[in-house]
Amino acid sequence: MKEGPIPLIYEESVPGRRGVTLPEPDVPPSPLPAELLRDDLTLPETDELTVVRHFTRLSRLNFSIDGQFYPLGSCTMKYNPRMNEEAAGLPGFRRAHPLLGPMESQGALALIWKLEECLKKITGFTAFSLQGAAGAQGEFAGVLMIRAYHRDRGDHGRRRMLIPDSAHGTNPATCTMAGFTTETIPSTPTGELDLEALKNACAGEKALTLAGIMITNPNTLGLFEPRIREIIALVHNAGGLVYGDGANMNALLGVLKPADLGFDVMHLNLHKTFSTPHGGGGPGAGAVGAGHLLADYLPGPVASKTGETYGPVTPPRSIGRLKAFYGNFGVLVRAYAYIRLLGREGIRRVGEQAVLNANYVKAQIKDRYPLPFGAERPCMHEFAASPNLGNGISTLDIAKRLIDYGFHPPTVYFPLIVKEALMVEPTETESKETLDAFIAALRAIVVEAATAPELLHGAPHDTPVGRLDETAAARKPILRSSVPPRTVVP
Ligand SMILES: *Cc1c(COP(=O)(O)O)cnc(C)c1O
Repeated sequence: MKEGPIPLIYEESVPGRRGVTLPEPDVPPSPLPAELLRDDLTLPETDELTVVRHFTRLSRLNFSIDGQFYPLGSCTMKYNPRMNEEAAGLPGFRRAHPLLGPMESQGALALIWKLEECLKKITGFTAFSLQGAAGAQGEFAGVLMIRAYHRDRGDHGRRRMLIPDSAHGTNPATCTMAGFTTETIPSTPTGELDLEALKNACAGEKALTLAGIMITNPNTLGLFEPRIREIIALVHNAGGLVYGDGANMNALLGVLKPADLGFDVMHLNLHKTFSTPHGGGGPGAGAVGAGHLLADYLPGPVASKTGETYGPVTPPRSIGRLKAFYGNFGVLVRAYAYIRLLGREGIRRVGEQAVLNANYVKAQIKDRYPLPFGAERPCMHEFAASPNLGNGISTLDIAKRLIDYGFHPPTVYFPLIVKEALMVEPTETESKETLDAFIAALRAIVVEAATAPELLHGAPHDTPVGRLDETAAARKPILRSSVPPRTVVP
């Protein structure tokens, strides 16, 4: 059912209506000091049922994993098992006060320690810090660790960071914030890092200014870099370190340990791969793993275990804190619950199923949604298509029309090297029926593009608000209603 415009709660206000009645006080009233009283406070006056209906209606306007399929490439919008929420909601975790001492926080510290151990097993790294509140913050920590490492060796000239042109935008932003200069390494026509360009960037005198490389594998085209060992060896031989952007670890889970390939430091987005609801910008956890060269530089505190006692410790050469206390602890509880729920075998199947699902969707649509890079190779957990449906239909039109079919739009116009990119990541949690419905919608849109292009140009049609000027919505949002509040509470 299409909803009409939803009135503001102020428009539903009726003078004198109340949702709650406070009991008569059993002590004499004591007036507040006059300077603390507000006489300009305007509040809606509504009964409880009106409030419940109002906010339930508003909540239905949201896309969410609990309601719809969310094939948002690079974002890993998988289903978040309810079990995680149960665990994060346990009173001992939820009510833990961060200022309690270590002896009063043994359960929380034990969980942090155990999660660090799990992540070490999954990735092969020597140590982990769970301080970071987002992938980008994990990146920032990792890059500062690389900077500190070179400085400690008196290697002050190493200021250049190499970044593939397929990289996530956070990579160059992070390097710039950390005081590095960035240098782009192009991709080959088959979607791999251009090894010749890399050799050139590491050659001769240039080696002396090389700080390292930030690389994503599988890269954002959803392709595994088959020559990753050569890439890493080239950078190491030139004295640089290798940062792995592990925001989306889905494809490698239980199959490959990044540390075995030679990565020096890497962040994992616990909110993506290890399932925390993270639409709308949070909360997240950017766990940072490091090999033996950089483990001492990790942000602190990390968890330690002596006998049966857990404690917070700061690594000896730590770059410092990223965040107050222990990071986004609720996300850590969810990640730990998720890993323990799946176990070693389950974790491996996550990766296998995520890759299978992406390849299934890709195979079913690639005749009409062609892939400019790696079309003939299996993709990993996601793929980037470059549709050209004719009749002036843009990828934005396709994305908006998918909303009418009940699907969240895929990631669009990223990676930047794919023209009109449409980037799909189905994740392992979707059923074949859901994937088939999504494929059918994409194919129906191909037909519409030929027969009724205006339907696509004008989409979405079934939403309370049609197509927005997205720049203006972000830069000049209209946040005030013209409806005057009806009631004034004195
Ligand atoms: C999501 C993502 C990031 C950034 O993670 P945030 O938690 O949004 O800061 C970095 N790199 C890649 C490849 C990503 O997909």
